[in-house]
Amino acid sequence: MEQKWNFKPSSTLLDASSLSVRGVLCRIMGHMESDANDPKPVIPLGHGDPSSFPCFSTTPSAVDAVSNALRSGKFNSYAPCVGVLSARIAIAKYMSRDLPYALSPNDIYLTNGCAQAIEIITSVLARPSANILLPRPGYLFYEARAVFVGVEARYFDLVPEKGWEVDLDGLTAIADENTVAMVIVNPGNPCGNVFSYEHLAKVAETAKKLGIFVITDEVYGHLTFGSKTFVPMGAFSSTVPVITLGSISKRWVVPGWRLGWIALNDPNGILKHTKVVDCLKSYLDISSDPATFIQGAISDVIANTNEDFFVKTVETLKMTAEMCYNKLKEIKCINCPCKPEGSMFVMVSLDLSQLADIKDDMDFCCQLAKEEHVIILPGCAVGFKNWLRITHAIEPSSLDDGLSKLKSFCEKHAK
Ligand SMILES: *Cc1c(COP(=O)(O)O)cnc(C)c1O
Repeated sequence: MEQKWNFKPSSTLLDASSLSVRGVLCRIMGHMESDANDPKPVIPLGHGDPSSFPCFSTTPSAVDAVSNALRSGKFNSYAPCVGVLSARIAIAKYMSRDLPYALSPNDIYLTNGCAQAIEIITSVLARPSANILLPRPGYLFYEARAVFVGVEARYFDLVPEKGWEVDLDGLTAIADENTVAMVIVNPGNPCGNVFSYEHLAKVAETAKKLGIFVITDEVYGHLTFGSKTFVPMGAFSSTVPVITLGSISKRWVVPGWRLGWIALNDPNGILKHTKVVDCLKSYLDISSDPATFIQGAISDVIANTNEDFFVKTVETLKMTAEMCYNKLKEIKCINCPCKPEGSMFVMVSLDLSQLADIKDDMDFCCQLAKEEHVIILPGCAVGFKNWLRITHAIEPSSLDDGLSKLKSFCEKHAK
């Protein structure tokens, strides 16, 4: 007789790979054929990790800080669930530089990168029939985590004609008494936009009216190179409670170090009063922590990073964004509604009516990978069908090469 096992696969998990950038990129990469006689380089314009390119390498002082923390022998034990105190103090100070009031170390909770911060906050807000409002286009990790803990994801639009601002009327229309929070990503992934002070003020007023918290993903905080400077959403926390998610992954270009945080901007004590803080602490008691020596290093990482390093990173991003925008303008079937002003990406629309044999954005990206070894993220992976998200944060010479190949691919497939 055949042996039976009781395990049944979870359909939520089996479907989850279509809800992640990694899953979609993996499928696209699968279309590349390697030819030993014609080894073409792979040009990665699909993901957001430039750490392997020399022009984006992190500052040596950060490496020293981690190495010193490790060698000190002081960080070999388990850390407190909320995080090492010196790290919470340093992050509270770091964030308070841009705020009209000072955060306390008790407002900071350390996580395994911003990704775990997203996982934790969606789980903390979960309860039967709760829903959360997410931006479209957006970062699908939020939807994946929300769905996994049984929170319904609802979408509001970011409007390309308005520099990807939030459609606040549309947002109000989809909210109800079970809506717990809304999410914004600023500077934006995937759109490369930056929200103005005035727009963020309106977001705060709208959230207050709806009785919902604002979760702000500021993992690209300070990575801005256009007309608008970065304004943290926490500046509006006297209007509405703001939960800021961040990490060192992007600004220090060390996504593999896995250090992030949740910061509660709540001068009126509403998150305390509604017991979000208690739920958060309880959740941290049953989850894993970032490596203690990375936590131990963070105060020196912040204190010893020279402003020149940040300036150089932003200048490089400005240059690659500029180059990307100008080269994309030469491609007929691609339209770029907004010049990128922050983060590492640009969103462009694809005019399929000009292409002869391409079905949709996914097909476009698969054929491009196959023929040119250029990897781009299809819009469907950020909730925006028949658009493309292009990463400009790579070595400039490869970027130039990749965009030229993209152009000739489009010409070859033109009607
Ligand atoms: C990269 C990214 C994250 C994840 O950051 P980690 O700190 O590497 O976990 C979260 N949100 C957005 C919008 C991102 O682009």
